[in-house]
Amino acid sequence: MDDLDTLLALLNSSPIVDGTPTDTLADDVAAGRWAKAHGGTGSHPEVDHLRQVRDHLQDLVRGSTDTSALATAIHGVHQIPELTPTGVTWTLVNADLPARITLEWARLQQTHPGRLRPCGNDECRLFLFDRSRANQARWCSMATCGNRLKARRHHNRTKSGDPTS
Ligand SMILES: [Zn+2]
Repeated sequence: MDDLDTLLALLNSSPIVDGTPTDTLADDVAAGRWAKAHGGTGSHPEVDHLRQVRDHLQDLVRGSTDTSALATAIHGVHQIPELTPTGVTWTLVNADLPARITLEWARLQQTHPGRLRPCGNDECRLFLFDRSRANQARWCSMATCGNRLKARRHHNRTKSGDPTS
């Protein structure tokens, strides 16, 4: 699992299931397990920090906050250059799981601006990363949100009796 997958997994850890908001990280034990599965330690401070970073990143991707809330997530992180036979590699130091996820978000802002976005369905809290060439993906999943909205529009059109809309 790479850092992009981990970022998406964190952003999508509070889905609405059958109309009810859920939170994969609400329970301390489950959250610790989640952190370990994604390369963290699963410690209580890390889990608390992960929840904060998730909330900030979700707000950021929705466009409702600025980056200042993330300052603590990357505090103290630095890179050390190491010579290799072919050049130099940079190694991150002091980067815990919340920091690595924050840096991955920042990397995407540069390499794929605008491609990380909230699902177009207002009743969905998931996020998507658009890998398509056209860059027009709107739904976290065509099978769920895409088809559901299409079906609703069709239903509304049929109900209003306006075949042209
Ligand atoms: Zn969705």
